[in-house]
Amino acid sequence: MNILVVNAGSSSLKYQLIDMNTEKPLAKGTAERIGIKNSVLTHKVPGREPVVIEKKMKDHKDAISLMIKALTDSKTGVIASMDEISAVGHRVVHGGESFARSVLIDETVIRAIEKNAELAPLHNPANLMGIRACQNVMPEAKMAAVFDTAFHQSMPEVAYLYAIPYEMYQEKKIRKYGFHGSSHRYVALKAAEMLNRPIEELKLINCHIGNGSSVCAIKYGKSVDTSMGMTPLEGLIMGTRCGDLDPAIIQHIMNSYKMTINEVMDVLNKKSGFLGLSQYSSDNRDIMKAAQAGNKQCQIAVDALEYQLRKYIGAYAAAMDGVDAIIFTAGIGENSPELRTNVIGGLSFLGAAIDEEKNLLREDNMDISAESSRVRVLRIATNEELMIARDTLELISK
Ligand code: AMP
Repeated sequence: MNILVVNAGSSSLKYQLIDMNTEKPLAKGTAERIGIKNSVLTHKVPGREPVVIEKKMKDHKDAISLMIKALTDSKTGVIASMDEISAVGHRVVHGGESFARSVLIDETVIRAIEKNAELAPLHNPANLMGIRACQNVMPEAKMAAVFDTAFHQSMPEVAYLYAIPYEMYQEKKIRKYGFHGSSHRYVALKAAEMLNRPIEELKLINCHIGNGSSVCAIKYGKSVDTSMGMTPLEGLIMGTRCGDLDPAIIQHIMNSYKMTINEVMDVLNKKSGFLGLSQYSSDNRDIMKAAQAGNKQCQIAVDALEYQLRKYIGAYAAAMDGVDAIIFTAGIGENSPELRTNVIGGLSFLGAAIDEEKNLLREDNMDISAESSRVRVLRIATNEELMIARDTLELISK
């Protein structure tokens, strides 16, 4: 049984066709520059050369049609027809308070996603374009929506309320929602499997550190706190996002630089974080290389992320009154042994210690703790697409 996973952005669309018997991708790809000049679809099948198809895609419907052609074509394809796709799972960024789990898509769900676009104006409309395009091209297919925010709906009020007038929460739903839910959930389940213990008795801190980053406290299988907020801007220093900030700074920047609120938000979303601090790059690999070559600002950017991570881990250990395992995942978390060494190196008060030889090994999922460590330290390769596909399969099997 095959499930197609679709992640639609405003001008891009990523897809993965997963064989649910093996849980491995049969094919994956990305359509880029949808609706603008030089649109291109890159289609990858494991064991074959990637195929690059340069073709005009005026909208997401064109992108879906091209994806279907790539999947079913006698040369590039992996299936004979769309009948071999059992259902489609869509990533949707913001489920607001409407969704605490994944759901099959119907018109009521679509209206709720539209309503939640107030909270994610960049993401939800793009996700909806992907859903509408699929409905158009594959009218018979069953579809599920899997929300980035859903996993965090278990947070208690003390964690999700901001200390602003309460009616702003009641009237406008201004609160912490959290993101990367599919990743945090996948990693928590994998961690329980690796530790060979029921998730219901584990206290986990998962560090999803990539271009966008968030930490999540997962107590007995449920998210109880996370570092991103009402939007993905809060929390850790990220590639280009500022993370935690004194809100009064916004007014100060507006006055000092004669900027509009939209211009300031652009600075905080796109010109801050690693890029802003280093004045060099938003990419961790670039920054680490430059730091090693003596670039002081790049070194500060790296040090600042590691410092913030230690603070969040300390805070979440306190929030859960203990921690059994600290996990690193996503682009930086999985691939930077230096980050793991430096973060765990500052957590000896928790009894956490790393085995430096294991830390350097390149296996997907590994327990990298030293034997003496009181807290397990794990490296886990996240797989949000598989989590979306599993949810979709479960929903259509009901
Ligand atoms: P993601 O958003 O999860 O794809 O992560 C992207 C980030 O991971 C970028 O900042 C990359 O520089 C970083 N990254 C990817 N591979 C490595 C690596 N081998 N070592 C250090 N950072 C890496």
